[in-house]
Amino acid sequence: MIKRKSKDETKRMRHAGHIVALVHQKMKEVIEPGISTKELDNIAHKIIKENRAIPTFLGYHGFPGSICASINEEVVHGIPDENRILKEGDIISIDVGATYGGLVGDSAWTYPVGKISDDVQKLLKVTEEALFAGIGQMHEGNILDDVSSAIEEVANREKYGIVRQYGGHGVGHSMHEDPFLFNYSVGDRTVLKTGYAIAIEPMLNLGCDEVTVADDEWTVSTADKKPSAHFEHTVMVTDDEPLILTKLME
Ligand code: MG
Ligand code: MG
Repeated sequence: MIKRKSKDETKRMRHAGHIVALVHQKMKEVIEPGISTKELDNIAHKIIKENRAIPTFLGYHGFPGSICASINEEVVHGIPDENRILKEGDIISIDVGATYGGLVGDSAWTYPVGKISDDVQKLLKVTEEALFAGIGQMHEGNILDDVSSAIEEVANREKYGIVRQYGGHGVGHSMHEDPFLFNYSVGDRTVLKTGYAIAIEPMLNLGCDEVTVADDEWTVSTADKKPSAHFEHTVMVTDDEPLILTKLME
């Protein structure tokens, strides 16, 4: 069952989301050729702790990092590693969660490392556009399928692969709550209500939609090794416009 968040829960989620946004603000600043994904993880961990929050990912089903750092053809769940050094022309998806006062914020962004090719730049732009198309459907009275369909429409326009096995999710006292949100239409008629918080997270591929999981049992990559992008915000349905929880507080 999906639970509406109370005013107090919303406040704490907004705070968690702010901390997640602080991490992304820093990631954008420090991502450059030569930095390792472990260094990025250390920076993220420090920001979360300094803000009296808990890194949600660390230890989640045994995950060893505070961020997921997924490079190029890696889609999600890349493990931070001192031997994974970013180089010019890479893209890196950083996914991060923070728990504040028992409530979770979850957001991912794909960053270019130096100058990237035009087709990959477009993949990033369009995946971000797909995220905001989904967010635009987060209105009371709409159905979950409106969100999925809006994402799918943007992806299909560019003939990008849509990752099928992973998707968005309800979020609150734990990172993954009901409902599961597909990034393509499955006809889910769950009605959106004020107070529902959902992490919307399209994962789009330059090539096919198939993915594989590495021997480390975490890292998900595209089957054809073509680049993948991942953009995610935690968003709440309100009486008014959709509220993005994972952005900086004014
Ligand atoms: Mg995430
Ligand atoms: Mg998520």
